[in-house]
Amino acid sequence: MEKTDILSMNLQELTDFIVSLGEPKYRATQVMGWLMKGADIDEMKNIPATLKKKLHENAFVAGAKIARKQVSSDGTIKYLYELHDGEKIESVFMRYKHGNTICISTEAGCPMGCAFCASTLKGLSRRLLPSEMLSQIISTEKDTGERVSGIVLMGIGEPLDNYDNVMKFLRLVGSPEGLNIGYRHISLSTCGLVDRIGRLADENLPITLSISLHAADDETRSSLMPVNKRWNIEQLLTACRAYFEKTGRRISFEYTLVRGKNDTVSDAAKLADVLYRYCSGMPLHVNLIPVNNVVERGFLPSEKSGVEAFAAALEKRRITATVRRKLGSDIDASCGQLRAKHD
Ligand code: SAH
Repeated sequence: MEKTDILSMNLQELTDFIVSLGEPKYRATQVMGWLMKGADIDEMKNIPATLKKKLHENAFVAGAKIARKQVSSDGTIKYLYELHDGEKIESVFMRYKHGNTICISTEAGCPMGCAFCASTLKGLSRRLLPSEMLSQIISTEKDTGERVSGIVLMGIGEPLDNYDNVMKFLRLVGSPEGLNIGYRHISLSTCGLVDRIGRLADENLPITLSISLHAADDETRSSLMPVNKRWNIEQLLTACRAYFEKTGRRISFEYTLVRGKNDTVSDAAKLADVLYRYCSGMPLHVNLIPVNNVVERGFLPSEKSGVEAFAAALEKRRITATVRRKLGSDIDASCGQLRAKHD
């Protein structure tokens, strides 16, 4: 019989499972409490040996084990996690004044093929289970001895390509018997799967949506992001507007600056034009990220003065722009770099 992944279960499912093993309901709450602390079956102190034996026979915890850890001089920690089948993924733990945030992976590898991204170099290996996303947070809390209060789904993978598991994960994270982290402290970043953005709007999850835009015209965006050939900028921004109208949640736009590709002041003007064309009336916020040099890709980041001029050009058009603070740049903390190196 195939063993059940109990860390992917919500309280109702775990209760049904425990009852099916002939045990009383209240044990489910106890087991779930232990799982959320990162305990293995043997470490569940108030659970009787008979139930532990049944759990060993029928269940497993699909977790993430630390394979490698790098600590940056700014306190950022990058983890290479190994999954039960040997797949490797990455998480980054960041300390901010307002609390600790973790950037987690949603897939091992990525199918989307963005030209500047290390995560997609070898395509998609497989999608992660809800438990494997949860375990990145739980294992990091256990290792650091600190609580995580914010989550960004900006690690390896495209969260909306792993839609059902990501939704299940988000509900486990937000529930009181799960990690009890507020949805408003969670951001989901997507390269722009327009059909799924529509579905997400109906989920009633008050998370923040981030859109990886990276270019203001279809020719440039398609050359950087193959997904743009399926859904172009007009379709993407129209979906963003519908998302905002339905949820009332603000959307942030990510814009990676690649030298000589999309980083001039006239590119900034073009970006302002396109945002106003499709998203006027929405709060407009752009995160500028000088591209992290991925050796295999050969893209160079924009000069500091160029980044500042780009931000100023957006601000002049009343679009707030922040330049992403580079945490952990001494440890290759951007997307997929550690996993790629490990291979
Ligand atoms: N697939 C999702 C989330 C993971 S990528 C998405 O595309 O949004 C997280 C962010 O990092 C995205 O905005 C992505 O475009 C950006 N990114 C990837 N490689 C990068 C690089 N080399 N330099 C800067 N940003 C990068």
